[in-house]
Amino acid sequence: MLTIGAFARLARLSPKALRLYDDLGLLPPAAVDPSSGYRFYDPAQLERARLVAWLRRLGMPLARIREVCALPAGEAAREVAAYRDRIAAEALARERLATFLVDYLSGRGSPMSDARAELGIRYAARTDTGRGRDTNEDAAYAGARLLAVADGMRGPVGGRASTAAIEALKPLETAGLAAGDLLNALSEAIGTADETIRAAEDDTSATTLTAMLWSGSELALVHIGDSRAYLLRDGALLRITTDHTMVQGLVDEGRLSADEARSHPQRALLVRALGAGETGPDLSLHTARAGDRYLLCSDGLSAVVAPDALERALREAGEPDATVDRLIALAYAGGAPDNIACVVADVVEV
Ligand code: MN
Repeated sequence: MLTIGAFARLARLSPKALRLYDDLGLLPPAAVDPSSGYRFYDPAQLERARLVAWLRRLGMPLARIREVCALPAGEAAREVAAYRDRIAAEALARERLATFLVDYLSGRGSPMSDARAELGIRYAARTDTGRGRDTNEDAAYAGARLLAVADGMRGPVGGRASTAAIEALKPLETAGLAAGDLLNALSEAIGTADETIRAAEDDTSATTLTAMLWSGSELALVHIGDSRAYLLRDGALLRITTDHTMVQGLVDEGRLSADEARSHPQRALLVRALGAGETGPDLSLHTARAGDRYLLCSDGLSAVVAPDALERALREAGEPDATVDRLIALAYAGGAPDNIACVVADVVEV
């Protein structure tokens, strides 16, 4: 048996840390002297002490460390891998937001922004009822400054909700907004749409909405629900929205892999939607480049067509019209169990 001081030196931990781990049940001493209260450790406990210290350094919460330490090595490895994936996802999300802000702050107000080439878009939008449904509650719109898809919940009220969401944005297309006003204008229009949907005769109605509003080369993205926006830039496809679904929450926590999420029976269960819930949409500002290709779609496409097939179709098919046709054909090849909404836009120099 080792005293706490000797064990601490061997484990390269402080006696204070060891007392904390004991209090938290992470590493109880092998024996405690009943009269003096001194703690004694078995040299065999060194490995456990090192594992706890490593996991602490990793920033893992103590409750989770306790779980990991109780597992056999193979399962512990899987838990740590899930934790690693979660940190990586969080870091990526923060990095993206920081990049938007850098772009936004450097473009705003500088004389360069006026000299930049004016960008325009070529676009196509379509919805399709699909094979598995006899009504279509999806809506899609594309114009010179606005792209949008919305997926209303089933039934006539859902169809009205998706249409109302897109109608609320249309006035912004001709409002001549400056880049700096895009986000506020979108946020206000979304608030109005949310109220309209909530005031409908059936107040359980709700819809997803993923939309982009342009000013020059700046584009504002508004997103709520599980429709998606993707960007094909330099030949690589990047998803720029996060699903507001229960299943995505589990992926973020490292409890489910992206592959498992795709086939999860409750993958469509939304935690946020327009007209329902208390949390509003995600809003972000992006800088477009000539050559960018954007895809907005409902889950009738993204849940049916695998990401690599989506990427191939976006890279290979020609004009936006032909690409939209190709994407809908791919959804049909996958059974088309749901309504499909699809918008493709290419950024071009004017
Ligand atoms: Mn759908």
